[in-house]
Amino acid sequence: MSSETVVTEIRGKLVTTGASVLIELEGKRIAKISPFDHQESNDEELWIAPGLIDLQINGYAGYDLNLSDSSMEERIETIRLMVDKVLESGVTSFCPTIITAGYEQIYDSMTALRLACERYSVVDETILGIHLEGPYLSDQDGPRGAHPKEHIRDPEWTEFAKWQYVSGGRIRMVTIAPERSGAIAMIRELARAGVLVCIGHTAATHEEIAAAVDAGARMSTHLGNAAHLQLPRHPNYIWSQLSEDRLSASIIADGHHLHPSVIKVIARVKQDQLVLVSDAVHLAGMEPGIYRTHVGGEVELLPSGRLQLVANPLMLGGAAVSLSECVQCFIRFTGTELSEAIGMATIKPAKLLGVQQIGVVEAGYWADLILFAWDKSDGSISVRAVIKRGKQVYSKR
Ligand SMILES: [Zn+2]
Repeated sequence: MSSETVVTEIRGKLVTTGASVLIELEGKRIAKISPFDHQESNDEELWIAPGLIDLQINGYAGYDLNLSDSSMEERIETIRLMVDKVLESGVTSFCPTIITAGYEQIYDSMTALRLACERYSVVDETILGIHLEGPYLSDQDGPRGAHPKEHIRDPEWTEFAKWQYVSGGRIRMVTIAPERSGAIAMIRELARAGVLVCIGHTAATHEEIAAAVDAGARMSTHLGNAAHLQLPRHPNYIWSQLSEDRLSASIIADGHHLHPSVIKVIARVKQDQLVLVSDAVHLAGMEPGIYRTHVGGEVELLPSGRLQLVANPLMLGGAAVSLSECVQCFIRFTGTELSEAIGMATIKPAKLLGVQQIGVVEAGYWADLILFAWDKSDGSISVRAVIKRGKQVYSKR
């Protein structure tokens, strides 16, 4: 684990402007940003960006948030260890994502997240809110993705309220399929409660999607994935979400979940309403091989980072690359400027969630920062240092 040294100043090229700056930190916050003449220094000049913000992480580096058959103590420690690994990847804030499971299982996951936040300040400061993805989803093969069919069901407010209570009010995002019985009323209630409602894992009609948006849904979860292998040419739920101007969209731009042409089209259509997510599962960052998971039985992680179901290699079993890798894929596929692509993984998700004080490098904001090298020729981003609330939690020389 990192030594967590206190940082008082950093120098580098600000990703938003390209200007060389000296950033002074005071405690956990950015105190002052001033111009800096890099010519005086012989070091390689690194880029400075806000720490990345990921709205969808299921697990990382072998640590799984959607554990079953584990003691509460094991769950809490798993969360703590996972947060450390996520921080090292350059993501300084994220939404742990709890997927479809039985009532008790989700209840325990929510409890563990609350207890981990109460016990460890770094966990509390890194977790923006919980993303509940399921169980109110489509049970059709394709839209269902790798969510266990036996636990998929219609929305029920009292059930959700118990999970929300035991999480300490931390559920800030819910992904729901609008076509389920009671979904529209549920969306209205969630939106009224200030929860970011997302459409996803759905086989909804055009009208059902419109009704969900009227009721307060504001985002599409990993648009283009969790879909049938074949769709009517039009209308279909992908066109309907693409064309709905009131919907932002998240995408998994890992090079496996969406063809580059689709990423380019979604980027052009959604423009500044697009956010990048990793949707990383616990196998992200692990060695290639065949693994057994509760999500989709046996899955195979290929050297390319593609994670597929052994029983049906056409179906993906989640994502296994970090958000910084998604940013570089996105730039490669769309030709988007570095600063804009970084914005889709920092300020835009922060705004969608309504979180202040992060996602921007500005005096007064939290000192959540990354330093990275960027190779313009192949777009590769190499995270060299991560600062979380004024402390260096990762560095690679
Ligand atoms: Zn999903």
